[in-house]
Amino acid sequence: MRLPFPLIRRPRCLPLTRPHNRRRTLLTLAIETSCDDTSVAILEKQKAKSTLHFHDKVTSDNRAFQGVHPLIALESHQKSLALLVNRALRSLPEREAGSATWGNAVQIRGAKGEADTLREKPDFITVTRGPGMQSNLMTGLDMAKGLAVAWQVPVLGVNHMQAHALTPRLVSSLNASSESAESHPRFPFLSLLVSGGNTMLVHSSDIVSHSILAEKTDIPVGNVLDKCARDILPKALLENGKSVMYGPMLEAFAFPNGAKDYDYTPPETQRGLNTMKTTQFGWAIRPPLSEDKSSSMEFSYSGLGAIIRRIVESNPEMSDPERRLLAQETMRVAFEHLASRVLLALGTPEMKDISTLVVSGGVASNQFLKYMLRSLLDKRGFKGVEVVFPPMSLCTDNAAMIAWTGMEMWEAGWRSGLEVRSLKKWAIDPEAGDGGIMGAEGWIRADDTQL
Ligand code: AMP
Repeated sequence: MRLPFPLIRRPRCLPLTRPHNRRRTLLTLAIETSCDDTSVAILEKQKAKSTLHFHDKVTSDNRAFQGVHPLIALESHQKSLALLVNRALRSLPEREAGSATWGNAVQIRGAKGEADTLREKPDFITVTRGPGMQSNLMTGLDMAKGLAVAWQVPVLGVNHMQAHALTPRLVSSLNASSESAESHPRFPFLSLLVSGGNTMLVHSSDIVSHSILAEKTDIPVGNVLDKCARDILPKALLENGKSVMYGPMLEAFAFPNGAKDYDYTPPETQRGLNTMKTTQFGWAIRPPLSEDKSSSMEFSYSGLGAIIRRIVESNPEMSDPERRLLAQETMRVAFEHLASRVLLALGTPEMKDISTLVVSGGVASNQFLKYMLRSLLDKRGFKGVEVVFPPMSLCTDNAAMIAWTGMEMWEAGWRSGLEVRSLKKWAIDPEAGDGGIMGAEGWIRADDTQL
C-alpha cells in the first residue's frame, strides 16, 4: 500500500532476524487506558475477515466525583490491567498439536488441575499512545512494552481518536462473510465523533489523514448531556444511577417507550434548525450559535448547559412531565446542532463524493440521535448518504478499536519504537501544529523495526 505522505526515514536499528508473520493471519493483543476504561482485546485478522477472541473492560467508579477523577481512574488501571491481560491470554488461539515451537507460541498455565496449553503468540502488541490522561496512558504503554519485550514482538502505539474514526471498518471486518470482502466504509467518509471528551466532524481520506471540519469550542456534547441530566432528572433516579454516564439515563427518562415517544418533524431548511420553540410550559431553549454564527463550522455547548440550569432553577418543584419535555427538548436542540454542521459540510462541493457518515463515541448509542439524523438527511436531500452507527460496545472507549487500528497501521508498514512515550495531546489532522498522527516521533518502518 502506498501512503499519501512522505515516508519518515528512521535510522536502522537491529535487522529483522525472522519474519513476523509466518501464518496467513495477523494476531494482536491490544490495550486501552486513556481515560477511565481499562480494556484489553485480542483480535485476529485473516485477509479481510477479523475475529475478536477476547474483549473486556473495567470502568473505574467515579460516582462520588460527578465526573472522571484522574487519580481514581489511574488506580483502577493499576488494579485491573494485569488481571485483564492475564485473562485475555487464555483466549489466545490454541496451537494445533505439533505446530508449536518456542518461538511462536506462549505457554499458558492451566487452572488448578488442568494442563498447561500452548497458544499463538501475538504478532505485535497494540496500545493507545494518546491523546488522554498522561499517567493513565503510561500504565497501558508500559504494560504493552513489557509484553513486547518479553515476547520479542513489536509494539504499535496508536491514536485513540484515529481508532474511533476507523471503528466502522473493524465492524465490517468482524461481519465480513468472506476473507475477500472489502473493508467498509471505503475512504473518503465523514465521521461525527460524539463522546464525553470530544465533539468533532472529521473527513477521513485514508487511515492516517483525518481532517477536522468542525470541532467543539467549549465543552463536549456528552459532557453537556451529563450536566443537563443532573439538573433535569428527578432526584430519586439520579441517586439510583450506577455511573456518572448520565446521558443514557436522560434518554431513558425522555423516551420511556423508545421510538413510540418520538415526536420529531425535521425542519425543511437550515434556518429551521436555528429557531427557538416555546413549549406549553412557557420556556424555550435557544439553539447554540443560532445568530451571527449560524453557519460557522464549530460546536458550542456551554450555553445549552447554562440555559437548562436556569430553567430548572426557576422552577425547583418542576413536575415529572415537564422534566420529561425538558429532557426531550435538550436532546433535540443538542442533536440538531450536531446535524446542522453535518448538513453544512455535506452541502459543499468538496463533499460530493461522500456516501457514508459514521457516528461514533458514547453519545452515538442514543437511539433518538440515530432517528433524527436519518430523518434530517432524508428531508434535506441526502437519502443516498448511509449513516453508520458502530455497535454500542465499540462506540465507547474500548480496546477492540485499538487492536483494529494496530492492524491497519501494521499492514501499512508502521511500527513504534520501544522508546515512545504517551502523548497527552495528539491531533489526527495532518494540518495540525503537531503534524497529526504521523507527526509524532517514534514511528518506524517495518524493515527498521527494533524487534
Ligand atoms: P465516551 O467518552 O465515548 O466513553 O462516551 C461517554 C459519553 O457518552 C458520556 O458523556 C455519556 O453520558 C454519553 N452517552 C452514552 N450513552 C448515551 C446515550 N444513550 N445518550 C446520550 N449520551 C450518552
